[in-house]
Amino acid sequence: MTDRFVPDKDMMTVAEALARLDARLSPVVGTEELGLHHALGRILAEDVVSSVNVPPHDNSAVDGWAFCRADLPADGCLPVVGRVAAGHPLDGPLPRVSAVRIFTGAPLPEGADTVAMQEDCKDQGESVVLPIRLSEGDNARAAGEDIAKGAVVLHAGTRLRPQELGVAAATGRSSLKVYRPLKAAVFSTGDEIRDPGTELAPGCIYDTNRFTASGLLRALGAEVTDLGILPDRFETIRDALAEAARSHDLILTSGGVSVGDEDHVKPAVLALGSLDFWRLAIKPGRPVALGEVAGTPFVGLPGNPVAVMVTFMAIARPMVLRLMGAAQTALPRYSVEAGFAFKHKPGRREYLRARLAHMDGRLVAAKFTSDGSGVLTSMTWSDGLVDVPEDRGDIAPGEMVDFLSYADMMR
Ligand code: AMP
Ligand code: MG
Repeated sequence: MTDRFVPDKDMMTVAEALARLDARLSPVVGTEELGLHHALGRILAEDVVSSVNVPPHDNSAVDGWAFCRADLPADGCLPVVGRVAAGHPLDGPLPRVSAVRIFTGAPLPEGADTVAMQEDCKDQGESVVLPIRLSEGDNARAAGEDIAKGAVVLHAGTRLRPQELGVAAATGRSSLKVYRPLKAAVFSTGDEIRDPGTELAPGCIYDTNRFTASGLLRALGAEVTDLGILPDRFETIRDALAEAARSHDLILTSGGVSVGDEDHVKPAVLALGSLDFWRLAIKPGRPVALGEVAGTPFVGLPGNPVAVMVTFMAIARPMVLRLMGAAQTALPRYSVEAGFAFKHKPGRREYLRARLAHMDGRLVAAKFTSDGSGVLTSMTWSDGLVDVPEDRGDIAPGEMVDFLSYADMMR
């Protein structure tokens, strides 16, 4: 399956690009303390250490009767000496050879170690007949069995989902230190690019990239300023970049970074800061420009609308996540069956637009019919990208391939 892999000397693999980015980038945003209700989707800026045990006390997992297993007589009958409901502990320890009525979440009295489910018991009022097959500890939850006091329950760099907010609350925290949203400025470039909603002049096309790029950034939690379309004019681009750099943490442009005469982004960035031209060994979307404008990180994506999304996902997304303080930038990879044949010349990493379907219990990826990198409807048709590594040869139907889901890429 693997042919000779001859890397192109001038080209950089995605892995190399990511390693370089990782070495240079760190969070650029400040932090703030937010109440739990406002922290959903933010990135945690501290390790959360629990100041309590969760649960705080030994308690019952069911409604029933609590008792000491070693005290249970052969006939299973014990006198009932009290009642413990959630939030209302028994006053004092459980007397020997007795049981208490207990409800879910109620603290186990000292001396009790086992709970019988009420469905399995015979309630006789003053006494109860318990099932003798129970083992010590059944239906009882130990203090600290979920979270031990002093344990780190959440790590800095974690995206706060509903369950992370729940865990923070369980440890008694009402607010968390989180990173502020990344402020991103987005431009499109090109004399032919027009705003949707306006008349389309001859030779022009509507801007798609500002909307897809802004959407991708917002999905990651960035605050986006839409700075419109820049004409192919050096001075205009330079001035707009300089202005954007003053009040943003990141500048993202599309178009104008290939080697054509009309590509003015590169000299404009160079006039204000520095720029690396990274010829990525990826398809679609080779030229990606990375640098800084007066100290503000800059990423220049290709103009082609599909390449914008693919290079964003491969390169800009991990970069943005690092700047935002996120620890995890790698995407989950799902192994699926190829439902297509694909000729792959080793050398470049290719991202194929693919849709998943279940077939006889297998998860099979169908590939979009055209590989044209300008076909944006291929992106709405697909669920994600099949990632074909640089060194892989042709793919035959039935072979396993790695699938990256858009759902994962946009968070
Ligand atoms: P460029 O990288 O500027 O040479 O652009 C490459 C191709 O993508 C050209 O066909 C452009 O017209 C097209 N393109 C560039 N920017 C956009 C945009 N914002 N929306 C739609 N198409 C674009
Ligand atoms: Mg252009």
